[in-house]
Amino acid sequence: MPSALSGEITRRRFMVASGMLVAAGCAIPAELLAQEDSLVQTAFRVAATAPITAKALRRNITVLSGPGGNIAVLTGADGKLLVDAEIVTARPNVAKAIASINSDPITQLINTHWHFDHAGGNEWVHQAGAKILAHENTRKHLRVDTRVEGWKHTFPAAPPGALPSEVFDEVHTVHANDTTLALKHYLPAHTDSDISVHFVEADVFHCGDTFWNRNYPFIDYSTGGSIDGTIRAAEANIATVTDSMIVIPGHGAVGAKADLILFRDVMAGQREKVAALKKQGMTLAEVIAAKPGASTDAEWGNGFMTPALFLEWVYQGT
Ligand SMILES: [Zn+2]
Repeated sequence: MPSALSGEITRRRFMVASGMLVAAGCAIPAELLAQEDSLVQTAFRVAATAPITAKALRRNITVLSGPGGNIAVLTGADGKLLVDAEIVTARPNVAKAIASINSDPITQLINTHWHFDHAGGNEWVHQAGAKILAHENTRKHLRVDTRVEGWKHTFPAAPPGALPSEVFDEVHTVHANDTTLALKHYLPAHTDSDISVHFVEADVFHCGDTFWNRNYPFIDYSTGGSIDGTIRAAEANIATVTDSMIVIPGHGAVGAKADLILFRDVMAGQREKVAALKKQGMTLAEVIAAKPGASTDAEWGNGFMTPALFLEWVYQGT
């Protein structure tokens, strides 16, 4: 493994790809690589070669899972509609996976929120023919340089072609491919730009990053996220989702209502433990050493976000 990848970032999500980290034929913006952080840079590098798997869900919906956020693909006579567009460097494998479904063009893209592992492919997907729709805060963050302290990274303003051409505030409905898509903005949760996408007829619900299935989530305090907002959104998802729904998380395997309940319970449980330890006067380092997530760390902290990172973001919000 290259030395740049050693240390804390030996994530399960990236392990398959880590043995073949060679420079891919995909340009990584120099200004992004010039920064000293490791997590975001590693994500850019790994995504260049990480595999993308396609799984047919129900009706005309397929989910693509790779190094970044899960992509939903809705197919039909109107052309492909995507929900999210992965990390920019994943383009070759994402394009291949999309083309493996059928040869129809991509005509629409919806962003669940502004983060680089969901909206990173915006520009190339737009160039391929898609118009982009998102919450207004997604466009707000993408159009300017945005610092994310939790990742110690500043994302430069996105080029004009990567910006959503249409935005909404609270709710929005899209009709495409004989499908009704009901979009809804969450109260500030993972960020202030999170939306859910309900494919009504297929009864498939994409939660974006308000739900990480058996993975500790990132919480972006720099653009409106918090642990309490994360728990509140998990409650909202549980209230919305029925037993028959297929639930697409931002990260992790496709699941169902029981997985959302587990996520809420783990988030609320960790918050409670960390708050109690902090109240006793413990520093962040002492809280991390106390391992309040011992029962879930092996499974949930084995992905992109380590237990220590997650605890840092919980500690910050309690
Ligand atoms: Zn995110």
